[in-house]
Amino acid sequence: MRIAMSAAEVGDDVLDRDPTMRRLEDEVAGSLGTAAALWVPSGSMGNLIAMMIHLRRGDRFLAPRGAHVLESELGSAAWLAGGMPQPLEWRVGPGRVSADDVRAAATTESLYFALETRLLCLENTHNMAGGTVTPPDEHARLVAAAREAGMRVHLDGARLWNAAVALGVPPAALAVGVDSVQVCLSKGLGAPVGSVVAGSRSFVAEARRVRKMLGGGVRQGGVLAATGLLALARIDELATDHANAARLAAGLVELGWEVAAPETNIVIATVPDTAAALESLTRVGVLAWPLPGGVRFVTHRDVPAHDIDEVLRRISVARSPAA
Ligand SMILES: *Cc1c(COP(=O)(O)O)cnc(C)c1O
Repeated sequence: MRIAMSAAEVGDDVLDRDPTMRRLEDEVAGSLGTAAALWVPSGSMGNLIAMMIHLRRGDRFLAPRGAHVLESELGSAAWLAGGMPQPLEWRVGPGRVSADDVRAAATTESLYFALETRLLCLENTHNMAGGTVTPPDEHARLVAAAREAGMRVHLDGARLWNAAVALGVPPAALAVGVDSVQVCLSKGLGAPVGSVVAGSRSFVAEARRVRKMLGGGVRQGGVLAATGLLALARIDELATDHANAARLAAGLVELGWEVAAPETNIVIATVPDTAAALESLTRVGVLAWPLPGGVRFVTHRDVPAHDIDEVLRRISVARSPAA
């Protein structure tokens, strides 16, 4: 990627577009089945831009409990985009919400002081639920329920590529009908910087204005976009991360851990004492993330299968955090 950066053809994307960024945006739009797309420095900025376009003060938005837009973006959807968040329960499965709950949260009151539920924000895969996948038919039902209730739909697809690979469907099949979608080139695809937010031409034209407003317009961005193009060429390789997650989960179960079967590249283990578990993992050189009542492991392209085996070996000789 560093070699690609040095060779990238560049222009001035603030002034009149950068050719490599343009190529990346066209490729992502093609992959997602949208009319247009816009590079942004981070997934959080991509989500925020979409929220700022879709929401006005006095609006409510819906998102699955634990969603990144609810928990991990410092509440910017509320204080910058002006939306009142309403979490939806995981009724269908971990990280998966029901169309009935979307309908139930629709605006019914025409009272001038009632919130208007204007947006459904989906997340596929759902990060904190353990990289769980919403399949295309369920996605379509949720989009239809939102539309019937007069809501727009934003898809936080930071890991949409993982969902597509896990299901064996094109990414576009998981973005059907949405008003906007955000995808990460970093995360599993390994670009150092960058996400893309996509939608209609008018959405992207507005997104370009809001990106500038937030200080996210960059000039010779081709050096970053070149890494994004390499990242896109790696989507199929995510299957290796998924296989490694399954390998890790199976190994942990053998060691007596309580682990949910992973759907993609995230493994969540239930532990009685998260702090103690993380401490004993750290002691043997294994890094994981704390969750309430558990720990979260993520597999990625820098952790090959033989390292997964090494992780399991080290955990087996450490004091068992699951005990
Ligand atoms: C990582 C992530 C983001 C944000 O990406 P950043 O580039 O870290 O800002 C958004 N949504 C989900 C689900 C994520 O996992």
